[in-house]
Amino acid sequence: MTTNPTTEVVRGDSSTSLVAEGEFPPLTHFIDGAFADSTTSSAPAAGSASTTLINPADGTTIAEVVEGTVADVDSAVVAARRALTAWRESTPKDRADILYKIADRIEDNADVLIRLESLNAGKPTVVSEDDISMAADTFRFSAGAGRAFTEMGSGDYVEDHTSIVLREPVGVVGVVVPWNYPLLMAAWKIGPILATGNTLVLKPSEQTPLTTLKLVELIADLLPAGVLNIVTGLGPEVGARLSSHPDIDLVALTGSVGSGKAVATSAGDTLKRVHLELGGKAPVIIFDDADLQAAAEGIRNAGYWNAGQECGAGTRVLVHSSVAEEFTKLLAEQVSTYVVGDPRGGDQVELGPMISQAHFERVTSFLERAIAEGATPVVGGRALEGPGFFVAPTVLADVAPGSEASQHEIFGPVVTIETFETEDEALERANEVPYGLAASVWTKDSARSLDIPRQLDFGTVWVNSHLVLAAEVPWGGFKGSGYGRDLSIYALNDFSRTKHVQINHAR
Ligand code: NAD
Repeated sequence: MTTNPTTEVVRGDSSTSLVAEGEFPPLTHFIDGAFADSTTSSAPAAGSASTTLINPADGTTIAEVVEGTVADVDSAVVAARRALTAWRESTPKDRADILYKIADRIEDNADVLIRLESLNAGKPTVVSEDDISMAADTFRFSAGAGRAFTEMGSGDYVEDHTSIVLREPVGVVGVVVPWNYPLLMAAWKIGPILATGNTLVLKPSEQTPLTTLKLVELIADLLPAGVLNIVTGLGPEVGARLSSHPDIDLVALTGSVGSGKAVATSAGDTLKRVHLELGGKAPVIIFDDADLQAAAEGIRNAGYWNAGQECGAGTRVLVHSSVAEEFTKLLAEQVSTYVVGDPRGGDQVELGPMISQAHFERVTSFLERAIAEGATPVVGGRALEGPGFFVAPTVLADVAPGSEASQHEIFGPVVTIETFETEDEALERANEVPYGLAASVWTKDSARSLDIPRQLDFGTVWVNSHLVLAAEVPWGGFKGSGYGRDLSIYALNDFSRTKHVQINHAR
């Protein structure tokens, strides 16, 4: 153990920046194959409204980014619509060739993308590395999957009538993504959307647009103008226009439940398709026969990855009362070894800050209320000293069933522990949250490992692991976590449509 995570933040050399001035992308929209104006790293053009990007690790200003308007979205949609005909008529192979080149560009420029992501989101290098590597893999998977994506064979299902099922793009897609995995969440949408022949307009989070803008700068020469457009700006303006725009065919949002409801409501007027990847509150059910050491090690990673700012994080432990004390001790040991810090603190840093002052206050106020209600902070339980928005990795025991900390997404480095007595009670309590994104079950009993996942109302259920993802398998939720699937062939399904063509060949 190098530091005590409940007291120390590793800082590194705070006089240096992770990213040199010349490495920043233009900080404005990318529409119809070009950046909107000649703005570069320091400030947007005179007269534009802008959002200030703050380094979450020290609270300093990084840059100003142009805030888009309804008119900017409308221009981007015109460009995307114009580009659609040629793009949708290109072959899956042609599109795949480009997607493979995008993956290569990401990997060739991984170093700068990793540093930009760490600067903008406060991520430790290990987290940014994982994000960028999976972003490249998402493009590779989408390229291959787009070529292998087939429909049922043609056939005569009515006498003298041959049916053919065509798979077509949906059209122009509007995409809104969050700040917790800025480039990765963009890649999860851009890959399958382009592979299936759609064009798109994407809004990054106003807090973390840097890697998305860098990506389009890096790949601008690979894509025809208008196929991929980026409009920076705020949710209620740019995001709302994407969801209400009459010439957008589908809107996909990854974000909070509140934003998902706003998007679905606004999309209703034009009856456009909606694809929602929303929040989560993943239960972790630990039975009395589980390998407790493996569970503690698994939750060390799955509960705190990206400082717990992770929709699938294993945050809500439900452990059998007979092993609760032992498990709590093992988890506390694991979490006490975390090294918290600024990404400039080097490779030893595993856990970074909250994304913003506002989010830091949200997480710490959750902790204060939970502790006031009787929860015991076995590790952490409070803020760490600034600058920056750091919260100590926390294990909260004695959390009351039904309490706020047990039911709501905290989205910080906080794992709560509750106990149960029977299997039925574990299932009922696991399912009682309004979310349905992910869950895990820890047991050595083979029947249990098959039977319990079927009874859990979550889009992903891991057995004896948590937060292990792959591009081939679907990601998405039930209930308050939304609908639609990212990754896998199911994402290609969601971003395309079937058309039945029937030919009467009677003579
Ligand atoms: P958020 O909802 O505040 O913002 C997400 C995006 O939506 C941002 O780009 C924002 O500008 C935009 N937005 C806000 N209001 C909008 C509106 N009215 N119309 C259209 N767009 C709007 O979420 P966040 O704080 O950036 O991200 C954290 C949330 O995202 C958490 O709840 C997390 O669980 C969720 N998330 C889910 C997944 C998943 O795969 N299910 C993945 C990552 C994050």
